[in-house]
Amino acid sequence: MSISTCQIKSLVQAAATAIDANAEEVSSLDQAIGDGDHVVNLRRGLAALEQLADELGETDWASALQKIGMSIMSTVGGASGSLYGTLFVTMAKALRDAGDMNLANLAAAFGAGVDAMKQRGKAEVGEKTMLDTLVPVAQALQEAAASPPPLAELIERINHAAATGCESTRDLVATRGRASFLGERARGYLDPGARTAQLMVAAMTAVLAQGEA
Ligand code: ADP
Ligand code: MG
Repeated sequence: MSISTCQIKSLVQAAATAIDANAEEVSSLDQAIGDGDHVVNLRRGLAALEQLADELGETDWASALQKIGMSIMSTVGGASGSLYGTLFVTMAKALRDAGDMNLANLAAAFGAGVDAMKQRGKAEVGEKTMLDTLVPVAQALQEAAASPPPLAELIERINHAAATGCESTRDLVATRGRASFLGERARGYLDPGARTAQLMVAAMTAVLAQGEA
């Protein structure tokens, strides 16, 4: 597997389409256990990235990821803005020397990015956040990089990790983010950030599956 920066445009568009298609569901989750702005925050960031995408397609991964991170930090706002900004800026650093976006480099960069998000938000798995989706995805990538499966199986494992992780947030009480103010009342709802992370992962892996088909 090797992903080109030319694919950024399709990846961003797919993520935006998935968020739009599920906007009502996510907004009602965020109205129930957050402050209701999560979809608006993400849409603002994804729209800015769609504007940048052509330019990003002409550069290398390290520069593209750095620009993506900076753009997210200045447009998205909220907890998710600083967390996703941190993810991409950290991935940019990891790819500076590695170069190509093959499976090994993606796994290492994404792993470093998710670790930086944990530090930034002082959160771990099990606190009912987007990390409950993203940490299992990072683990699936690292396991796959150690012993690479065929692309279809890789994608299946990533999507399974994301879906299971997202679903795990339903029964959790939140200990980070706004939902933590609700205590037991947050139980029974998926975390909106975990759900949007899962939606974007599924949308982007579908693009990668098509690209190689
Ligand atoms: P805000 O909560 O500041 O309004 P958003 O609505 O954009 O920001 O994003 C909310 C999501 O951010 C939550 O659903 C959760 O997944 C995630 N989140 C909040 N705080 C943290 C944290 N400390 N670590 C990881 N993720 C977090
Ligand atoms: Mg919010």
